[in-house]
Amino acid sequence: ILARITMRLSILSFAACAACMTHAWQPTATVQSSAFVQARGGVADNAAAPSSSTALRMGIGSGARRIRDSIFSKERSREDLKIGIAGFYDRSSKLWEEVWGEHMHHGYYIPEDRTDHVQAQIDLIDEVLKWSGVEDATSVVDVGCGIGGSSRHIASKFNCKAQGITLSPYQANRGNELAKEQGLAGQTSFQVADALDMPFEDNSFDLVWSLESGEHMPDKTQFINELFRVAAPGGRIIIVTWCHRDLEADETELTKKEKRLLAKINRAYYLPRWCSVKDYVDILEEKGMQDIRREDWSYIIAPFWKAVIKSSLNFKSVFGLVKSGFSTQRGAYAMFLMLRGFNKGLIKFGLITC
Ligand code: SAH
Repeated sequence: ILARITMRLSILSFAACAACMTHAWQPTATVQSSAFVQARGGVADNAAAPSSSTALRMGIGSGARRIRDSIFSKERSREDLKIGIAGFYDRSSKLWEEVWGEHMHHGYYIPEDRTDHVQAQIDLIDEVLKWSGVEDATSVVDVGCGIGGSSRHIASKFNCKAQGITLSPYQANRGNELAKEQGLAGQTSFQVADALDMPFEDNSFDLVWSLESGEHMPDKTQFINELFRVAAPGGRIIIVTWCHRDLEADETELTKKEKRLLAKINRAYYLPRWCSVKDYVDILEEKGMQDIRREDWSYIIAPFWKAVIKSSLNFKSVFGLVKSGFSTQRGAYAMFLMLRGFNKGLIKFGLITC
C-alpha cells in the first residue's frame, strides 16, 4: 500500500516540479548549494548574477536534465552527488528523527523477532564495537555522522571525546543541539566537512568509525586513505557499509538486472557506483594492512527494512512524507528496492575492520 502511496506522491510531486520547474525546483537547489558553500566557509558568488531570462532558461535546462537523469537512473557527477547528499539529509533528517530517533542506521536483530527498534540500533553499535575488539577509546571520529547518534553513544560509553562530520548543515546543527540537550556538548561536536578531505591532523583518533556512510563515497580509495591518515598508530578503523555481493571467480561485473536495481537506489539515496566487501579488503591489502577482518551481517539486519516500512504506515509518517518533498518520497519508495536487493543476495551489510 505504502509503495503505491509513495509512488503516487512521487508522480504528483514529479508532475508539480515539471509544471513549475523554475519556482519549486531550481531555487531549492540554489538555496541548498549556496547554504552548502557558506556552511563550508565559502562565500556564495552573487557578483555575476544572471538576468532573469537567463536564470529562467538555466532553471528549465537544469530541471529538465534532472528529470531526464532521474527517469534513466543516470549516475551523478561528484559535485552533484555532494550537493544532493547535503540537500537530501537536510530535508529528510527531521522526519527520520521524529519517527525513528537519533540513529540513522540498521538495527541488530538477534533474536530476529525483537520489536524495540531503537534499542536494536543501539545494540548494533555495541555489537560492532565488540566484534571489532574495541573496549575503550579516547578520541573518536564519526565519519558521516548523521545527527550524531553513534558519536554520543560511544562518547558516553567510553567517557571519551568524539567529533562527527556530515555533508548536511541541518545534521551538524541538530547533532550539536542534541549534544547540548544530553549534557554531552563538552565531549562531542559536529561540523560540515567532506570525508574525502577531512579537516583533521594526521594520527588524531584512536577510533575511526564509519557507520553506513561509505556507500556515499564516490572514491573508495581516497575514502580509505583519509580514514588511514587521521587514525593514530595502533588505532582501529571500523567501516560498516552497504556493499554489493562479491563477484564470482568467472564474473567481471554484476548482471545487467542487478546493475539496474542499484542504479535506481543510487538515484534515490544519492549514491555513486557500489563496490563489494572484497573491493574494500583489496584496497586495504594494497595499503599493506595485514590484520583485516570482514563479516557479512545481512542476515542480522534483515528485519530492519520491513520494520521501517511498517513504521511509515501511520498518519504522522505519511503526512511528514507529503510535506518533505520529492526526494524524501523517492527515498521512501527506494526502501522497497533495498528490501528486494537484500532478499536477492545482491546487497550486503558489510563490516570491515583493521
Ligand atoms: N552514521 C550515521 C548516519 C548515516 S547516514 C548514523 O548511523 O546515524 C549517512 C551520512 O553520511 C550522512 O550524515 C551524510 O551526510 C554522510 N556523508 C555522506 N557522504 C559524505 C561525505 N563525503 N563526507 C561526509 N559525510 C558524508
